[in-house]
Amino acid sequence: MFRIARARRSAVANVFVALSADGITGYGEASPNSFYDETAEKVSHALRGATPWIEGLRVRSVADIERLWDELWARLAPSRAAQCAVDLALWDWLAKAEQTRVSALLWSRAPAPVATFCTLGLSTPEELESKIDELEGFPLVKLKSDQTADLDPVRRVRARSRARIAVDANGSWAASRLEALASSLGTMGVEFLEQPLPDSAAREWSAPALALPVMADESCVTETDLDRLPALYSGFNIKLVKCGGLTAGARMARRGAERGLSTMVGCMLESSLLIGAGAALAQETKYADLDGAWLLSDDPFDGWRFESGMLLPGDGFGFGAEPKPGVFGEPDGAAPRPGSL
Ligand SMILES: [Mg+2]
Repeated sequence: MFRIARARRSAVANVFVALSADGITGYGEASPNSFYDETAEKVSHALRGATPWIEGLRVRSVADIERLWDELWARLAPSRAAQCAVDLALWDWLAKAEQTRVSALLWSRAPAPVATFCTLGLSTPEELESKIDELEGFPLVKLKSDQTADLDPVRRVRARSRARIAVDANGSWAASRLEALASSLGTMGVEFLEQPLPDSAAREWSAPALALPVMADESCVTETDLDRLPALYSGFNIKLVKCGGLTAGARMARRGAERGLSTMVGCMLESSLLIGAGAALAQETKYADLDGAWLLSDDPFDGWRFESGMLLPGDGFGFGAEPKPGVFGEPDGAAPRPGSL
């Protein structure tokens, strides 16, 4: 039997869940994104409605969590973000109960440091210069692009940095220009292009392979999207909050590897807790894009440390991330009181 507590942090507009049983507390997080019609209010509403059921859960093994995943969805739909928060809390709780790390439960080994892409948002030329300076020495840089498909920022980063570069257009480019743009990026040695076209246009794309690999993001939300992944893509971006948590994320990573697809684990704006969960998955993905906590001025969790584009494992069991005092309403960081949803 679990006791459940919820917390909201305006700094990230995220929802945190704490599940306590047997003197152990597992933590989960949802980073709702309006693109997927999720808000903190909707996540909280879904969690509130399922609280008595969640508090009656018992988990003793990874198989228990995997079995529960579909039931979580039945109770928390339509919020994959709420499902993610509870799923993560169960993984964190189980690993702590077994005095091990979630990566050990998933992959039978301790977590290793993770090299992560760091994202450069759309910028003026002046802003870009100072951002490039900030990323000096970082191994992986991702540039956002918009419908202008301006490749000049990519050229500027390429000229100033030895980082491996990716470009993410968030579905904003036109299909008519894609081949030529991909050719230019390929010439610049860009590692991959993420979601260049809107999903509908990606599904219609039937031209020959492009000059660089293309990864799906908005075209690959949940596991079922893997079975209908458009031919344009040679890989996909897994976001725990999109697919319903680590249980589904790990299945997607395994299925992607079986099919020879490149996998990446990405993030929204999230605390070190969700980043720690992503890092557990990133132990077995080709790429990680987990800079979401680095961008926070007030991270509610202590956990994985970010140093020059590397994530270094946090201490302790579970995901290796613990809430800062007061996050769950307890000034000393003690286990949360029950019934505070
Ligand atoms: Mg993306």
